[in-house]
Amino acid sequence: MKTVKDELETKRRSLELAISNGLGQSRNQTERNEMTKDPYGSASMTHDDEMIVDVVGRRMRELQNVNRALADLEAGRYGTCEDCGEEISAKRLKALPFAMRCIACQSSMEGVRRAA
Ligand SMILES: [Zn+2]
Repeated sequence: MKTVKDELETKRRSLELAISNGLGQSRNQTERNEMTKDPYGSASMTHDDEMIVDVVGRRMRELQNVNRALADLEAGRYGTCEDCGEEISAKRLKALPFAMRCIACQSSMEGVRRAA
């Protein structure tokens, strides 16, 4: 049976791969547009670059979360909400193995971030 640690390590590998692919993709953007003859490519090259940077940035943040979860696992505090110290529900951890906050704290944090 796969453990949470296995799952996180698999996730970490795929994120690392996706990040390096994404960065490579950004560098080879011009070649790629020529190869695929993307009808939208010519007008949106800068936009595509921004999109890739955005996606890579998001994956890097996700990778940080995964690394954090692995560290928490090592330290024996995995599955505990960072804000209120309550246990994060098993259902939530199954859907999001690297969740750091319980649903209540996460949604209030996101609410604050949106308002700011
Ligand atoms: Zn909480």
